[in-house]
Amino acid sequence: MRGKETLVTCESCGRKVPRNKAVSFEKSVHFGTELRNANDVRFSERMKVYYCISCAKHRGIFEKKKRNAIEHSKKMF
Ligand SMILES: [Zn+2]
Repeated sequence: MRGKETLVTCESCGRKVPRNKAVSFEKSVHFGTELRNANDVRFSERMKVYYCISCAKHRGIFEKKKRNAIEHSKKMF
């Protein structure tokens, strides 16, 4: 059906872009309470975010993805 594409929000500019035209990127987000005692809770989470093509280019997402792919293939061999 036309016009039924999933829209995602660009993390950088907030523009709504069709998912097939967006660039997905996994970023790790770190959470911490900054308490220097036993109650200090720290965890990180991998979050999937989307960028529109222009923001992806601007932020070097393609380069990062390429580098990740190279790193990944290095580990495999
Ligand atoms: Zn954008």
